[in-house]
Amino acid sequence: MSVALARRLAGQGIRDPRVLEAIARLDRGRFVPEAHRAEADLDQPLPIGFGQTISQPFVVAFMTERLELSGDERVLEIGTGSGYQTAVLAALARHVFSVEIVAPLAERAREVLLGELALPNVSLRTGDGALGWPDAAPFDRIVVTAATPRIPDALIAQLAPGGLLILPLGEPHGDQALRVIRRERTGALGSEDVLPVRFVPLTHGVAPKDGAP
Ligand code: SAH
Repeated sequence: MSVALARRLAGQGIRDPRVLEAIARLDRGRFVPEAHRAEADLDQPLPIGFGQTISQPFVVAFMTERLELSGDERVLEIGTGSGYQTAVLAALARHVFSVEIVAPLAERAREVLLGELALPNVSLRTGDGALGWPDAAPFDRIVVTAATPRIPDALIAQLAPGGLLILPLGEPHGDQALRVIRRERTGALGSEDVLPVRFVPLTHGVAPKDGAP
């Protein structure tokens, strides 16, 4: 349980009671390495190995809120990482498909999400998320948790009419903005930048080198 964390996020402007409840019910400590467990309920990103981080809870909550989930959606997540955002999404959507490029992180997330938590509505895959998940497409929602200067074509192609895509857009170590893309029922695309952010880079085709801290 992370009740104190959810309360803090409410104080920072997260309004959706379903998002706050999902965060309160979930123990973020499960998703961080043991050395950082004591910091799990703080609103900050933490290292999870391989040069990657578990996202800051405020950003997870903010992105989830912007996805406007009603409970019936099929969601694609790119960048499983620790699996924390995956678990939050799984509490609020019909099914979450999540892709991670770093195999050991994908394995660890699989143990937590499918083993320990036994979430029935999560599917995981190891590979390049820039390609999406073609055989499960289209998706009502797509969320990318790593930054890219260009929206991968495959993700736009796999977004259902009426769907939303949210991703950090910008240079890997430079300025990035969280962009929300809406595909109208007519097929037209609209977009809006909603928050300045800092995410680790979305890699294309190659996983980051093992052994990075
Ligand atoms: N939501 C995750 C964020 C992890 S950081 C969490 O809170 O734990 C972003 C993740 O994206 C990293 O684990 C990184 O390995 C992964 N990633 C980077 N490029 C990717 C790609 N092309 N396909 C899939 N995952 C990718």
